[in-house]
Amino acid sequence: MNPLDLVRPDLAGFVPYASARRVGTPAAVCLDANESPWSPPGDPSGLNRYPSPQPAALLTSLADLYGVEPDQLFVGRGSDEAIDLLIRAFCRAGIDNIVTVSPTFGMYAIAARVQGAQCRTVPVDAEAGFALSVDDVMACVDEHTRLVFLCSPNNPTGTDYHALIRPLAEALAGRALLVVDEAYIEYADDDSATSLLDAFPHLAILRTLSKAYALAGARIGSLIAASSVIRLIAAIAPPYPLPTPCVEAAQAALSAAALATVADRIAVTRDERQRLYRAMSNCAGVLRVWPGQGNFLLVRLGCARTTYNRLLAHGILVRDMSAQPGLAGCLRIGIGLPAENDRVLAVLQSPSAGVAA
Ligand SMILES: *Cc1c(COP(=O)(O)O)cnc(C)c1O
Repeated sequence: MNPLDLVRPDLAGFVPYASARRVGTPAAVCLDANESPWSPPGDPSGLNRYPSPQPAALLTSLADLYGVEPDQLFVGRGSDEAIDLLIRAFCRAGIDNIVTVSPTFGMYAIAARVQGAQCRTVPVDAEAGFALSVDDVMACVDEHTRLVFLCSPNNPTGTDYHALIRPLAEALAGRALLVVDEAYIEYADDDSATSLLDAFPHLAILRTLSKAYALAGARIGSLIAASSVIRLIAAIAPPYPLPTPCVEAAQAALSAAALATVADRIAVTRDERQRLYRAMSNCAGVLRVWPGQGNFLLVRLGCARTTYNRLLAHGILVRDMSAQPGLAGCLRIGIGLPAENDRVLAVLQSPSAGVAA
């Protein structure tokens, strides 16, 4: 199947904005983009120039990191931007829909809403460990479904759906794009789904430097997909999505030395996750801890609000998930530095934690 068959038909033959950096390569004298010929006062770094829309060196580094070809990669302002662009490219307002699980990351539904696309959800049950089957998903897919978002490991549950990716891609062939959000894959036991890209041209994968690579402030996220899909997404993206200082920060974060540090930190986070999982499971006010594969754990308490407030009184901010469907009593607690995790445990282990007020 050609994944472009699923694109909004009104975008056929779409011609992107011919930005200066798209139509010409920088020369000794650049008078093509109405930029200032001077650097900003006191700053020789060249910020007076528009950046490349997709800097080749960064694309190469990220393609190496993810084990794909540069033409299979679009880099944008976080994976959030890629989510938005995918929905805009594939979903006609008032007609098409996306499918995802519930609970999951909130941005799929938000981006669909902004585009006027329906968001259909497959509920996954906390008591069943958030288990999901291909049949559950396919029962929700109809002829207007264009994208199926599967977050694995899932935020906020931490559930790993890796085993589902291949059968789901098989079931969706010719029907919809499967978008696997791997924002937390670095912390998981399983490998990225990139190895399935050659077999499934309707598979798209989201990766980000915001979590394991410690660059949330730089907003660098990648969409990995068939090169035809990447060309389309790059065409509808804003002309210069990547600020020069962010590109430089990303390149520094991808040096061999930085990557070695990241690998060490991932190991620390995974050890801490295991330590917290065990310790929290034994806390009196904790009803359940799910064995998450991300850099956070989902915890059910006797009273989420009471524990939230107690943690906050000790200067610790966590995420209250109790208003999410199926997550009554739940907090999502990120894995911090070992000393920070000790502080969380000290509050949870103190006698009145989690007990209803
Ligand atoms: C944090 C997160 C993202 C956001 O990534 P950015 O690259 O920072 O936009 C994407 N997906 C999930 C599931 C996340 O939790």
